[in-house]
Amino acid sequence: VTGWSRCRKAGCGRPIWFGPNPRDPDRVLPYDDETEERLHFETCGATEWVTDDEGDRHSVSKCSACGARVWWQTTYRGKRRPMDIDGDVASWDCHFDTCPGERTRTGPRPEPEPVYGRARTEPPPPPPPPGYSRRMPGSKADWMRDLELSPPLSLDQLKSAFRALAMRHHPDMGGQAHAFIRIKWAYDHLKEYV
Ligand SMILES: [Zn+2]
Ligand SMILES: [Zn+2]
Repeated sequence: VTGWSRCRKAGCGRPIWFGPNPRDPDRVLPYDDETEERLHFETCGATEWVTDDEGDRHSVSKCSACGARVWWQTTYRGKRRPMDIDGDVASWDCHFDTCPGERTRTGPRPEPEPVYGRARTEPPPPPPPPGYSRRMPGSKADWMRDLELSPPLSLDQLKSAFRALAMRHHPDMGGQAHAFIRIKWAYDHLKEYV
């Protein structure tokens, strides 16, 4: 049903306009007004926002296990995962690695389950090389090109290409750090495809 209503979230209470959802004709979306230009989610007074180091804004939600503030990242594989927040800065640490788990009044804190196969002891991901960002990590074709590979991709091929280029580009071998970061970035992303 379209028409005016009022946001019922605590801390907001502003009038909102329910208008059509362009992706689903059977549903409505809350907008700021009848022009339907801006979704109310983006301006809701009850929504808290954090900004990441690339300048993107993310809405804050709450971890259901420990109650910490988190934001939700969509990874390049399309998975959603909660990420830590440091003050008003969206950090790139997955909250699953730091979540203390269920808040319990007595007894020891339970260990959180590892999620998405990423071991809790795994070091943080490398920084994105020039030309890429965590938000725009590149495509399979970009990474293949950076590793001087051509399809079809196999694990052996990927490993030997990376090893050969690492010999050339690793700073310990007299290479340039940015070139090494680039092939490592490509290697880490392509590993998911073999
Ligand atoms: Zn609101
Ligand atoms: Zn948590």
